[in-house]
Amino acid sequence: MKEVFKIKVTLVKNILEANTRIAEQNRKLFADRNVMAINIMSAPGAGKTTLIERTIKALKQNFEIAVIEGDIQSTYDAEKIAATGASVVQINTGGACHLDGNMISEVVDQFDLDLIDLLIIENVGNLVCPAEFDVGENFKVMLLSIPEGDDKPLKYPLIFNESSVLLINKIDLLPYVDCSVEKIRRESLKINPDLEIFEISCRKEEGLVGWYKWLEKKMEKR
Ligand code: MG
Ligand code: ZN
Repeated sequence: MKEVFKIKVTLVKNILEANTRIAEQNRKLFADRNVMAINIMSAPGAGKTTLIERTIKALKQNFEIAVIEGDIQSTYDAEKIAATGASVVQINTGGACHLDGNMISEVVDQFDLDLIDLLIIENVGNLVCPAEFDVGENFKVMLLSIPEGDDKPLKYPLIFNESSVLLINKIDLLPYVDCSVEKIRRESLKINPDLEIFEISCRKEEGLVGWYKWLEKKMEKR
């Protein structure tokens, strides 16, 4: 039993190491073409696609944005993004609950990277393994919506630790839900003191300016 367990651990380690190698190649490719890549992660239904739609609408005057949509199946989200005018590629993982470096490297040549400033990668809805797989992004961004509850930093610390930005979404629902934004802030900053936190409502288009400014600042630095 002990031996089997050991083999399993080695296998997982090898998979993650192979993934990191490919992710580093992706990151180098993005740097060479002056593309900033962000990896957006959340539970299903937290509002990733709506956030991306809003972000494209706000920034498309000044920046060329492309999107990779990760879903287990369907092209539903990709169609919504295509309606904004941004170029979009859908990855259907066919069951896998996260994107990895190889999936990104396989689709990325469908874009003309020289024309793109910002590549937004929408990960599969899941708070667990997306945080373990580097896809070659410059920043991981996580979205947590108010109805999910304020215990998420305590239950899923890795995703909070890996992210550069935490967007607390659906704050318009605060009057109807038992959820403390203050607790989310406190617990997530305990895990990751460098986390940039914005309180937003994609539906009401509130609080998003700080997020747009953060993106613009990071892109200007390049
Ligand atoms: Mg989506
Ligand atoms: Zn997974």
